[in-house]
Amino acid sequence: MNFLRRRLSDSSFIANLPNGYMTDLQRPEPPQPPPPSGPERSRQSGAQGAGGFFSSITNAVKQTAASAGLGEQSTGGPGRRARILLVVDDPHTDWAKCFRGKKLQGDYDIRVEQAEFSEINLVAHSDGTFAVDLQMFRNGTRIVKSFRPDFVLIRQHSFSMAENEDFRNLIIGMQYAGIPSVNSLESIYNFCDKPWVFAQLVSAYKTLGAEKFPLIEQTYYPNHKEMLAMPTFPVVVKIGHAHSGMGKVKIENHYDFQDIASVVALTQTYATTEPFIDSKYDIRIQKIGNNYKAYMRTSISGNWKTNTGSAMLEQVAMSDRYKMWVDTCSEMFGGLDICAVKVVHGKDGKDYILEVMDCTMPVIGEHQAEDRQQIADLVVTKMNYVLSKTPIPSPQRPTATTQPQSGTMKESELSKIPAQRPPPQGGPGQPQGLESDNPPYQQKLPGQDLLLQNEPPGPSATMGQRPSSVGQTTSSVSNEESLPSQQKEKPKKTQPHPQLNKSQSLTNAFNFSQSSFFRSSTTDDEAKADTIRNLRKSFASLFSDS
Ligand code: ATP
Repeated sequence: MNFLRRRLSDSSFIANLPNGYMTDLQRPEPPQPPPPSGPERSRQSGAQGAGGFFSSITNAVKQTAASAGLGEQSTGGPGRRARILLVVDDPHTDWAKCFRGKKLQGDYDIRVEQAEFSEINLVAHSDGTFAVDLQMFRNGTRIVKSFRPDFVLIRQHSFSMAENEDFRNLIIGMQYAGIPSVNSLESIYNFCDKPWVFAQLVSAYKTLGAEKFPLIEQTYYPNHKEMLAMPTFPVVVKIGHAHSGMGKVKIENHYDFQDIASVVALTQTYATTEPFIDSKYDIRIQKIGNNYKAYMRTSISGNWKTNTGSAMLEQVAMSDRYKMWVDTCSEMFGGLDICAVKVVHGKDGKDYILEVMDCTMPVIGEHQAEDRQQIADLVVTKMNYVLSKTPIPSPQRPTATTQPQSGTMKESELSKIPAQRPPPQGGPGQPQGLESDNPPYQQKLPGQDLLLQNEPPGPSATMGQRPSSVGQTTSSVSNEESLPSQQKEKPKKTQPHPQLNKSQSLTNAFNFSQSSFFRSSTTDDEAKADTIRNLRKSFASLFSDS
């Protein structure tokens, strides 16, 4: 037994275990799971008795079987069926609470699993099987889980050039596994380079013109080499891809510009420059499904970045112009179910569109709970949509799967999706990720304004300079049926990510439709038999060395 204990604490051994084994085997002793109710409790207490190890193996087998799709994923007691929603977010927002009481078609419950990117790992196979592993600490207890999510909501940035903030490998894995998501994984991947997103804004600017779509002027430098001079100062230099004001520097003169160019030389990444706008306030226009809100953010602390330091936040009326901007932006990358447009309003009275945020946009202001509910409703609608399109399990595996590059999925394509695999990503109208719901954003001030902390305060703007033209409320602009926007939008061309050029695009990279690799007509029974065989092998190796 001591040997087994040693083996189980050996990370390479653990890594080679089938998915799900770790779930129980690595649980601290004694385990303190959240108190289950009813029959679930008696099942668990039976499994965790003195028999410890073998009970754990039994549980591990059950969970491995569930991961492999050998049984209905269930929660909450006997007879309850559930679909698993993975929410990628920090623990500050309790997403399980937001989904409480919500049901899917077919009387399915929604089981919410929430974790940060850093706590997630996954394995995805080209035959459509996959498993997501979570390892996290909650209330001092290490929790290890393995499961197969039916859907994923991404609320956390998947990439920043700051240290340890590159989780694009997980986005690729989710796409590989074909997990449907809000926003689409394809769009999330595309959002991993700000200038790549800005290029989409440039397209809109070219189509609509400066009057309708007042995009800020910007210059892109792939590296420091061409950063020689600027026509006017001050300018804002934005280095690489980072968030929350990181890597953004205001440059006052030519000498400082040379200095910053030398810094860019060390970063080995791209940079952009923009004229510095002497601003009154920032505007943020957000769209969650078909719900719109606009906020004005004014710096209090005097930082030119209104998302740094403290700032006043005030909801303002949704104008047609704001709506047009956010609607335009929501069409990029095949459709963004959730997005926000950031605008600087200058003291010259002009608006300058700065940036689009995706589903990682934080909810802000005094209606955060409402925004989260709207996100939850959107996810439920999309889950119903994609899961209802999942073909009824058939004994015959498809010979190939097709990930549509964009546009509405065709039935013919859907019918090729493996029975236990959710429909692929990439359809238009998938919402973009929301930003993490940073609680610090509020402290209510008199007059319904909100004091923002931890994020940007604005530059020279002052509260007294707020425009009187902007009203105080806003909310849902449209009550349209909130079906996934993909369904309503025409298919659009998707821009492949630069890093994917060799294989054309992420979607194309995973298009197996022409492949002969899966032509065998393996049945689900065979798959189950494979899984059982693998389990046996693992058990054999578990005991053979002892
Ligand atoms: P995010 O966290 O949303 O990824 P970010 O904070 O890293 O973005 P920006 O939004 O581009 O980067 O800049 C931060 C803030 O700096 C803006 O909210 C705005 O207040 C200010 N700002 C950015 N660019 C300019 C500019 N060209 N002129 C004036 N102010 C600017």
